[in-house]
Amino acid sequence: MPLSYDVVIVGGAVVGSATAYFLRNEPSFRGSVLVLEKDFSFARCATTRSLASIRHQFSTPQNIAMSMFGTQFLRDAAERLSVGGQSPAIGFREQGYLFLATEVGRGVLQSNHATQKAMGADVVLLDGPALTSRFPWMSVQDLAAGSLGLSGEGWLDAHALMMAFRNKARALGAEMREAEVASLEREGRRIAAVRLVDGTRIACGAVINASGTSAAALARTAGIVLPVEGRKRCVFQFRSPLDCGAAPLVIDPTGVYFRPEAQTYLCGVAPDEPDDPPSDDFEVDWSLWEDRLWPVLAQRVPGFESARVLNAWAGHYDVNTLDHNVILGAHPDVDNLLFANGFSGHGLQQAPAVGRALAELVAHSEMRSLDLTALGWERVLANRPLRELNVV
Ligand SMILES: Cc1cc2nc3c(=O)[nH]c(=O)nc-3n(C[C@H](O)[C@H](O)[C@H](O)COP(=O)(O)OP(=O)(O)OC[C@H]3O[C@@H](n4cnc5c(N)ncnc54)[C@H](O)[C@@H]3O)c2cc1C
Repeated sequence: MPLSYDVVIVGGAVVGSATAYFLRNEPSFRGSVLVLEKDFSFARCATTRSLASIRHQFSTPQNIAMSMFGTQFLRDAAERLSVGGQSPAIGFREQGYLFLATEVGRGVLQSNHATQKAMGADVVLLDGPALTSRFPWMSVQDLAAGSLGLSGEGWLDAHALMMAFRNKARALGAEMREAEVASLEREGRRIAAVRLVDGTRIACGAVINASGTSAAALARTAGIVLPVEGRKRCVFQFRSPLDCGAAPLVIDPTGVYFRPEAQTYLCGVAPDEPDDPPSDDFEVDWSLWEDRLWPVLAQRVPGFESARVLNAWAGHYDVNTLDHNVILGAHPDVDNLLFANGFSGHGLQQAPAVGRALAELVAHSEMRSLDLTALGWERVLANRPLRELNVV
């Protein structure tokens, strides 16, 4: 292996792999690309443990635009990411998201809806009777409105998408190595090299931090404070005799969500803020099912009263503690270190847009397809949050 690359990407899950793909697919970039990933099993990364869903129902135009590109990309993924005539099966199902609101939340739902419509999202507002008519299995007495994605939203196989990006990036010439980066070697305004835990030094033209919940620790080795923390999120899989048919992913006003998965359902809820410390353990918090999930599910969907848990797992959001949005691009003090961290639970769907943006930043020193500069370091350093209201 050479010990110098034009671009070194730290972290080879969905964001690192998407970036490698877009870089090698960029006609005006002919440089070498190395992806360093510490665990080729990908067993514990957020990508593998994700709920793997995509929605256009955000409150900020940047998030909406990124997910709309994500949908476009996913629809064509079999073709774009095929290798040697073999097309990956990423299992994209466009069954929509349904955000529910009581009277208290109706205003926010309507204002988000207006932003989404202005961006071209295929969403519709439904009142109580319309909700009942579409979703007769749901109890709507306490609801004022719902916002339903009619197309473009849904879910997919996250691991398959990540592997498809990896395989295609490799086929286009990116190199992948299983190795852990210990530190970044900074010389003034540049990162000169990355240092592996075994001591190997790899010189680089640019570095991309795609290391998920480890991103802040990596940034610290270059003297940069990145406000990103790992926060545990648990997903529960349950069985119910009720068949909701082709139901959407439903977001209850309490924050509880559920969606169908084959013949079962997946659900979850974010812990209350005081119960949501930085975390790196993978213990499932079973009290969430008893105390928060089942009561809401049984009330919202009476047919779920006899639901039985089959399985559960824990993973970690890389939470941007300032505003729950990705921090994208270079820090003003270091020219060749690009960040894509702090996705706060929506990084899978944003991986295509972010991978493309990073490739454009490397190749052209600017984002050409989508202007995502509002998601850069400037707002972080100015302590000026770009607040996303629809955090799930
Ligand atoms: C329970 C759960 C549900 C989610 N649901 C959704 C959803 O429905 N939709 C959605 O869009 N997003 C969802 N997300 C978020 C999404 O999964 C993440 O935002 C996304 O996967 C982040 O991808 P990533 O590549 O940046 O990070 P990760 O997938 O965390 O990958 C980071 C990689 O970097 C590697 N690494 C770290 N440090 C080093 C180092 N020093 N050297 C080498 N390698 C290193 C790790 O091994 C890992 O493979 C969910 C997340 C969780 C936990």
